[in-house]
Amino acid sequence: MAAEPTAQTAPEAPATAGEWHLAARPQGWPVPADFALVEAPVRTPGPGEILVRNTYLSVDPYMRGRMNDVKSYIPPFRLGEVMDGGAVGHVVASGAEGFAPGDAVVHGLGWREYATLPAGHAVKVPEIEGVSLSAYVGVLGMPGLTAYAGLLAVGGLKEGDRVFVSGAAGAVGSIVGQIARLKGASLVVGSAGSAEKVERLTAEYGFDAAFNYKDGPVRDQLAKAAPEGIDLYFDNVGGDHLEAAIGALDVHGRAVLCGAIAQYNDTTPPPGPRNLALAIGKRLRLEGLLVSDHDALRPRFVEELGGWLKSGELRFEETVVDGFENAPQAFLGLLRGGNTGKMVVRLDG
Ligand code: NDP
Repeated sequence: MAAEPTAQTAPEAPATAGEWHLAARPQGWPVPADFALVEAPVRTPGPGEILVRNTYLSVDPYMRGRMNDVKSYIPPFRLGEVMDGGAVGHVVASGAEGFAPGDAVVHGLGWREYATLPAGHAVKVPEIEGVSLSAYVGVLGMPGLTAYAGLLAVGGLKEGDRVFVSGAAGAVGSIVGQIARLKGASLVVGSAGSAEKVERLTAEYGFDAAFNYKDGPVRDQLAKAAPEGIDLYFDNVGGDHLEAAIGALDVHGRAVLCGAIAQYNDTTPPPGPRNLALAIGKRLRLEGLLVSDHDALRPRFVEELGGWLKSGELRFEETVVDGFENAPQAFLGLLRGGNTGKMVVRLDG
């Protein structure tokens, strides 16, 4: 019988390390005081476990929902306890067969410098020359799969479709627009919150048209960008964007409801799209998307996106905030549009 592997302790693992706790539940917009940096013991991995030194932490819009004490598809963060989320790093000690110090892994215990976890909760990832490990929490990770599954499996993108995506300069949106183009959409329109982002959409990501939603009503700007209407809307924003899209969708149009970031910090429920009844006559399909439902697509997603990345047909960007101590600022900045592409936190050293 094979001997149970014993933990290989790494000399570089400290006795204690930093982790971010939820200090208060925000009302409306979160503030730095909602987070507390706590020094906590680094636990040596037991049998079947690994100790990971995180190199990149992911901050994502869904984390705002987890700061509220409400039942949702993912449990809320616990008050006074360490938060979690996507992270990527290197194994520094292992009590698990098949995992050795130096292995790069992606896992779900972010918001901390070191993580001890069952090896089964981590996925070993190859280190690709010229590609930062952070890609595994971005284009090659959850946001990339969200874009891929949302557009293809839920949205049923067809060649020739006219596509509109909101949040188009963000982690998910920038990939959605590019996949739509690569898969033969006849028109790709994006909206974003600054002139620089809008410029990038057309100049670098190959969108046919883009607009700054802060420049005027979304309905009017969308009508200008897609005068013949749209077939598919990928919604990252909700609110006025969704209402405008319902107005612009053609008969049998589809809307993929991925996110509603415009309302995540609202303290009262937002009004619904006032024109929802249009969905009847136009026979629209509005369908919610949860990336966790689409794990089966992962191999196809990795193969196809990996190919486009290698060939240079697909581009991705990251906004990197340096320093573990700046993780809350990165998250707060994300909610206010401080990122282009995926927002990540790079840990020191
Ligand atoms: P992004 O990288 O797009 O970052 C969030 C962006 O939202 C900001 O950069 C900002 O860009 C934009 N934003 C903020 N407030 C507003 C507003 N009031 N109106 C319009 N845009 C706003 O994040 P992700 O790509 O990670 O996520 C995009 C969306 O997808 C989110 O809604 C998220 O919750 C959702 N999501 C859903 C998943 C699922 O399984 N359903 C999985 C992953 C993400 P700007 O400067 O353009 O305003």
